[in-house]
Amino acid sequence: MIQPSTALLTDVERKVRNGERLTLDEGLALYESPDIHLLGELANTVRERLHGRRAYYNINRHINYTNYCVLRCKFCSFYRPWSKDGVPDAYELSVEEIAARARQAADAGATEVHIVGGLHPRLPFDYYLDMCRTIKTAAPDLHIKAFTAIEIIHFTRIASPRMTVREVLEALRDAGLGSLPGGGAEIFDERVHDEAYKNKVGEVEWFEVHRTAHEIGMFSNATMLYGHVETAAERIRHLVKIREHQDASLADRAAHFNAFIPLPFIPEHSALADLPGPTGLTNLKTLAISRLMLDNVPHIKAFWIMQTPKLAQVSLDWGVDDLDGTVVYYDITKREGSGTHQEMTVDRIRRLISEAGCAPIERDTLYNEVHRATPPPPPAAPPVSGALPILGQ
Ligand code: SF4
Repeated sequence: MIQPSTALLTDVERKVRNGERLTLDEGLALYESPDIHLLGELANTVRERLHGRRAYYNINRHINYTNYCVLRCKFCSFYRPWSKDGVPDAYELSVEEIAARARQAADAGATEVHIVGGLHPRLPFDYYLDMCRTIKTAAPDLHIKAFTAIEIIHFTRIASPRMTVREVLEALRDAGLGSLPGGGAEIFDERVHDEAYKNKVGEVEWFEVHRTAHEIGMFSNATMLYGHVETAAERIRHLVKIREHQDASLADRAAHFNAFIPLPFIPEHSALADLPGPTGLTNLKTLAISRLMLDNVPHIKAFWIMQTPKLAQVSLDWGVDDLDGTVVYYDITKREGSGTHQEMTVDRIRRLISEAGCAPIERDTLYNEVHRATPPPPPAAPPVSGALPILGQ
């Protein structure tokens, strides 16, 4: 790796302290610099300028409705290929089961359900509309954050007759959808796309979904899956594309990205399992550089499931101001030894934040503060894992 010149880094430092925007080359210089202490300090300067020592979390629950998927992205360990005869550890949840989990989450104090799944080859668009409506009937106050841009594009194709992105988003919004998660972005680069997820829709469609969501007043998040076949320069270009989109949304759209979430690639059980995945230092650098490059995105989140709780805690001094939530159930990635019950109690998440010298602030999905007269009830029984209910059973 070529080390950037001292003059370039001095200029970066001056710009950050003056609140000026960094260029692509300056972002790359931060990756290449061995001075990780300066990087952390600069990212923390921006973080404290925006949020002081406040650090956010929420009480939420993830629901994965199916792991059947028509695609085979190489980095993915979640999907199972469809077979009408079933596949041993594949599942598809009924709308009633999803609503029951949402009700259980609400009873445990959750303000949000986060719902994503594979691109199922058989489920009709009505299933997704029914899912939102049934959740809203079972738990009217829960915010439904659901469906990555890739799923939204899938819905436009399976709807009969076919629908536009706007029509799909408006129909889901009318059924109860509150906002979009940021998944499916991976790395906005044609070379990386062709190498690691060739058949998946690319950045044009991803941005079309989020632009349309922002136009109709629906907030969303953005992500970057890093640490597989991409280079540092390709990561920085990804960040610049997010920044440009956010500029346009802030200028003349009704909503925008609330948070950016860098997601480290977890190789286990994927077709890229021979890759080592990113190191802790790459994770910290990526979180910090995201904070520095994305001067127009309010929040940088360290998703503790993928960053690990310990690194997520440390990152609160490296530009991060949000650790996500209690999660409870997560099937998309599993480190060796972890199952689908991946839960963080409120007490533990608040302790992680407090020990890092920050003030823990409970937020809802849209970053409004949540004030409770009484603490949320203790964790409910973990959801069923392993053999999961199948549609119609
Ligand atoms: S990343 Fe998403 S679209 Fe790709 S195989 Fe996995 S579930 Fe399917």
